[in-house]
Amino acid sequence: MTEKQRADLAVEALKKEYPGAVCSLTYKTPLQLLIATRLSAQCTDARVNKVTPPLFKRFPGLDAFCAGPVGDIEDIVRPCGLYKTKARDIFNMCRMIKEDFGGKVPDSMEQLLKLPGVGRKTANLILGDVYGRPAIVTDTHCIRICGRLGLSEGKNPLKVERQLSAVLPPEESNAFCHRLVLHGRAVCKARTPECGACCMEKFCVYALKRSKV
Ligand code: SF4
Repeated sequence: MTEKQRADLAVEALKKEYPGAVCSLTYKTPLQLLIATRLSAQCTDARVNKVTPPLFKRFPGLDAFCAGPVGDIEDIVRPCGLYKTKARDIFNMCRMIKEDFGGKVPDSMEQLLKLPGVGRKTANLILGDVYGRPAIVTDTHCIRICGRLGLSEGKNPLKVERQLSAVLPPEESNAFCHRLVLHGRAVCKARTPECGACCMEKFCVYALKRSKV
């Protein structure tokens, strides 16, 4: 079986298992998704989803964030960890969006990467979820599961992103990554993957190797 065939099987299997997969961060605007994603670094989505309602109440839009003060952002985002860096990034990214991008969250990888604290993972999430572009979010679940499935090798996010972009149908890649997060939490866990309960057991390289041992 080629990697492309295995990728197609994985896409279909996960689509059946998690038909309505969407981003697990709650947001109403592109800016809110950008900010929630910045807060999610080394923090659970569940905790971010508890912090963002009071944050977006205190700072209802771009102008409010640009007015600061940063200390008020820090106070609210403290439970997410790394709160000083995250608060400063949020403040500075809002200023850049206002001053350099006409008040609109950018829609290109190149521009998104100019924003403070924004890496390819966040940029891909925005491109996929906000702008509907083909995007591959290589988070810890994606890297682990795709490695086990035999769709990618190694843990370098950019390399994994390139390997996956060569085998995934572009129009499916964004939803596929959201489904991987759900599957990683429920079945293909980091320490103990539950292969017997997995919809991809028949073609997963890890499971196939394990069954031969
Ligand atoms: S078969 Fe096992 S290792 Fe492969 S994706 Fe499923 S749970 Fe993960």
